[in-house]
Amino acid sequence: MPLEVLQRAAAEMTNWHDASGNPSGMGVMEMSHRGKAFGSIVQQAEVCLRRLLAVPEAFHILFMQGGGLGQNASVPMNLCGPDFGKPAVDFVITGSWSQKSFQEAAKYGAPHIAASAQESGFHHIPEPGSWQLSPGARYVHICSNETIHGVEFHTLPDLRALGSDAPLIVDFSSHVASRTVDWSRVGLAFAGAQKNLGPAGLTLVVVRDDLLGAALDICPNAFNFKNIADNASLFNTPPTYGIYMAGLVFDWLERLGGITAIEARNIEKSALLYQTIDSSGLYFNPVQPSCRSRMNVPFFLHEPALESAFLQGAEQAGLLQLRGHKSVGGLRASIYNAMPLEGVQALVAFMRSFERTRA
Ligand SMILES: *Cc1c(COP(=O)(O)O)cnc(C)c1O
Repeated sequence: MPLEVLQRAAAEMTNWHDASGNPSGMGVMEMSHRGKAFGSIVQQAEVCLRRLLAVPEAFHILFMQGGGLGQNASVPMNLCGPDFGKPAVDFVITGSWSQKSFQEAAKYGAPHIAASAQESGFHHIPEPGSWQLSPGARYVHICSNETIHGVEFHTLPDLRALGSDAPLIVDFSSHVASRTVDWSRVGLAFAGAQKNLGPAGLTLVVVRDDLLGAALDICPNAFNFKNIADNASLFNTPPTYGIYMAGLVFDWLERLGGITAIEARNIEKSALLYQTIDSSGLYFNPVQPSCRSRMNVPFFLHEPALESAFLQGAEQAGLLQLRGHKSVGGLRASIYNAMPLEGVQALVAFMRSFERTRA
């Protein structure tokens, strides 16, 4: 979370003020989600996000719950109906998150692996021209930033150019709002808020209008995208505090100069870290340079026995949460939007000094 956002939330924790500075006499957690004050908070958040990410009018912005994994079920439940047997759904597997989405989809559709990077250990993205897309697939799913393996699509695939009419479904949980999005290539994108947008508990769905209304009968009403869209995210009680906090983050991003400004900062931060890794004799990153993530930078030590000394020294230097995901081991720096350049500079300085003293 950006420090400024936390400070602003703290300052109005017990008494929220509207844009003109009028006090409401209560905190956001105490408001009715149907009241005027919260109505203005949710509407502002939507308008601000639409402007930031340049979301076209043909798309609905939905604020939901259930997280990224909830969407692994919600997406097929919403797009695989009506219930006349299980339609084909295509997956491009580039790491653990797309793998999880693939597994969940089997309950609602007939998932098919159009391409997989497993043979490289999830260190590359299979060339879109080589994807085996199913004719008539209901959709094609990708994870545009694999958080654990550190693999990112720097351009979204153009399915029409590949001869497919299927909508592209994008799990952009871990790099949403870190870069611009080419919506002309997207049918639906979803994200758990907790990496780049705000606190855990809020889930963002951006869905093209023509994809609504194809839900399976078993789809719960509270997870039916059409219900949420028809009720402007107020079908049932949404995660109100999460929406408020995300709104403050959107406002912070706009004041910083919008998505192009944060994207430039993210390029600078990640380039500094990858250069440090690539030029060292101690650290390495196994991902193909053309698809390295700007948000999640996994790295390994040529001498794995030094890992615990690295983590201990880093912690003493105030550099926290650098242990790699347990499924891949090693180290990982997650340098989301809120991480300032100074944070990466401090990490790089520590990495260099650790290498000098240990090598
Ligand atoms: C973190 C993450 C999720 C999160 O799932 P939750 O259900 O919100 O915990 C999904 N997809 C990706 C790519 C992620 O990084």
